[in-house]
Amino acid sequence: MNSEKAEVARKFVVLCGRVFRDADPKYFPSAQYRGRTLRFCTESCLGAFLADPDIFYKVHRNSEKNKDAKP
Ligand SMILES: [Zn+2]
Repeated sequence: MNSEKAEVARKFVVLCGRVFRDADPKYFPSAQYRGRTLRFCTESCLGAFLADPDIFYKVHRNSEKNKDAKP
């Protein structure tokens, strides 16, 4: 039971919609946006976010909803 909970805790989703398991979020780039901590899979995703946070957030929120849809 306890080990199952620990597994869930180690799973997290980055803003770009990728799901990571058995990974520690602290090794991934993160940024603050409107009081929330957002995580990114790579430094280049973080750079794209920082270049235009509002656009990046909007676009990737939508892609998260339609995971199978390709632009
Ligand atoms: Zn990414």
